[in-house]
Amino acid sequence: MWVYDPDTLRFLIVNNAAIDLYGYSREAYAGMTVLDIRPAHERQRMITAVHQRTDMERAERWTHLKADGSMVEVLTYGRGVRFNGRDAILAIVQDRTEVNAAHREVSDTRSLLDSIVDNLPVGVFVKDMEADGLYIIFNEACGEIIGRNPADVVGRSDHIFFGDAQSAAFREQDMRAFAAPAAIGFEETMHRADGVPRVLRTVKRALPSPDGSPPRYLLGISQDVTEERSVETRLAYMAMHDALTGLPNRAFFAEHIKREAVLATAETPVALLYLDVDHFKHINDSKGHAAGDALLCQVAGRLTQLADGNDLVARLGGDEFALLMRFREPGCIERFAESLLTSLSSPFDLDGVSEHVTCSIGIALAPDHAEDNDVLMRHADLALYAAKESGRSTYRFYEPSMRLEAERRHMLTVELREALQKNQFELYYQPIVQLENDSLGGFEALIRWNHPERGLIPPMDFIPVAEETGLIVPIGEWVLREACRTAAAWPKDLKIAVNLSVSQFRHNSLLASVVSALDESGLCPQRLEIEITESVFLADVGQSLPLLKALKELGIRIAIDDFGTGYSSFSYLRAFAFDKIKLDRSFVAGIDTDPGNLAIVRAVVGIGSGFNATTLAEGIETEEQLQALRREGFDEVQGYLLGRPMPLSQAQALIAAGASRPAAGRR
Ligand code: C2E
Ligand code: MG
Ligand code: MG
Repeated sequence: MWVYDPDTLRFLIVNNAAIDLYGYSREAYAGMTVLDIRPAHERQRMITAVHQRTDMERAERWTHLKADGSMVEVLTYGRGVRFNGRDAILAIVQDRTEVNAAHREVSDTRSLLDSIVDNLPVGVFVKDMEADGLYIIFNEACGEIIGRNPADVVGRSDHIFFGDAQSAAFREQDMRAFAAPAAIGFEETMHRADGVPRVLRTVKRALPSPDGSPPRYLLGISQDVTEERSVETRLAYMAMHDALTGLPNRAFFAEHIKREAVLATAETPVALLYLDVDHFKHINDSKGHAAGDALLCQVAGRLTQLADGNDLVARLGGDEFALLMRFREPGCIERFAESLLTSLSSPFDLDGVSEHVTCSIGIALAPDHAEDNDVLMRHADLALYAAKESGRSTYRFYEPSMRLEAERRHMLTVELREALQKNQFELYYQPIVQLENDSLGGFEALIRWNHPERGLIPPMDFIPVAEETGLIVPIGEWVLREACRTAAAWPKDLKIAVNLSVSQFRHNSLLASVVSALDESGLCPQRLEIEITESVFLADVGQSLPLLKALKELGIRIAIDDFGTGYSSFSYLRAFAFDKIKLDRSFVAGIDTDPGNLAIVRAVVGIGSGFNATTLAEGIETEEQLQALRREGFDEVQGYLLGRPMPLSQAQALIAAGASRPAAGRR
């Protein structure tokens, strides 16, 4: 406090606190005016205030200058007094520096918190529950989520922004969360200001009041999870559906059948149909994958169309589809299967090209054929297998004999594996005679299985199973090695013919095993002849052709076996330069009775010379047949008449006999 002269502005008296605050001694004050404790920029204001007495009787903020040159923020209060008999002014000054700093800190902290809340990447809001849920905090992220300016929201409540139903729902959530001891999460679709629906996830809880009194505010934290949810939904959909056809996939199907088969009763039976497009691979390979895909989509479309809305149509993978349907009266499944076959037999439009296909269907019924869904699926599979076996383009119901057949095949597989280990296979050799000079040209190696109990088993009884299970690969390798090794010991003018299966062509190990068989045995490649059937082309042209060419480049001769039994032989002849054509024995059998066969035999001779391929006729059993084929100009013959397939010892004896002509062939 001090008293000063309003005319001279001189200090008249100062108290101790003023001395402490400003750092001037009492003596120093005596020679100072109140302007001396003002920074330069405040002095004019001070003079004006004193003259006009504007700072009297009220608190004013000032910045004062201390003796050390630092500033002090003060609040002053002036009033007129009489001092030593004249008018003077009493100034009461309060140092506000620290208080102001503290205030500034508080407000800084507040704006810091505000800015944090505003910049949080999640929506944060606070509602005053005692004021009808008015928003008192609503951050930027919240504004973005609902598509509104936060400033418009604060001070208002939900019903201004959302429809009645939506705000009622929010209100209900608020009440629940406000009463709950812990936070509660909610998720729902709400419409933004622009009408766009968004999925909102919000956690709400009552904010505990600092003094322990009942809470007043509700805190909410919101997130827009629309994208997240749609990705999740899409992923879930993708996991359960086939991308190509949009049908439920195998996983979906497996889940579904688990439930349905359990529910199947004698009154509400269930039929499971497995459907497979016949020779689909051929279409895929010959027409391209796009055409294959288009076909599958159209098959899916027809199946869905024929099925009842309650039936499940699924794509299990590849060209395999499944239908699960409930049925009431007996006979309706047969009718349905027939309608499927009919529908699928009408041509498909594959990019402007019409394509005919057929399908095979296997059917198992629950609870008739199986109560357990795994068994049901297995049985439908067996029925499908049977439908394929019986010539395709048909349907089959499961029968117990199919299971026995499957078990037999399984047993056979186990035994075949063992046979390979225990060396139970043997090669028989059937002579091939060159008609030009009636000399032995070589042998065809034909596999036999010396079964310990069942004796000698012909290839037709085990090769198909070996092909199905892939065992043909190791068996085929053995045949190649054995045949090459054997032939390497024969006179150099004798060739060896080896049969290869389609499934061997699907393994890329084939070329390597041929090369290593030749290498190990030292057999000259020109003496090895590989026999394939047209089915190699049916299976996969793309893969087989380069392989055949590679084999041919090694110097190996390639023969087409059982010629005439496939269904578009000519295109294969054009696609690949075969060294030999082996006419199937069925044409030889009827040569002397059926003029049609003779015509075919002649045609084959013509084709052979046209393509520069050796012609061989298989299955010669009679002299008449031999004469006829000789007459027609075949290069080579093979058949029981000239020699049955025989064990190696006999073949060697035949070779050793030196006549280079098999006994039966000599006339
Ligand atoms: P393929 O290659 O057409 O072999 C000729 C089949 O006709 C042989 O039957 C042979 O015994 C039989 N055959 C020969 N001459 C006559 C005849 O005058 N009359 C009659 N009725 N039949 C005759 P096999 O040995 O039972 O072989 C059957 C088929 O098994 C072969 O037909 C061949 O496709 C396949 N095969 C044989 N050995 C192998 C092999 O090592 N690997 C593969 N992948 N298949 C083989
Ligand atoms: Mg053959
Ligand atoms: Mg043949």
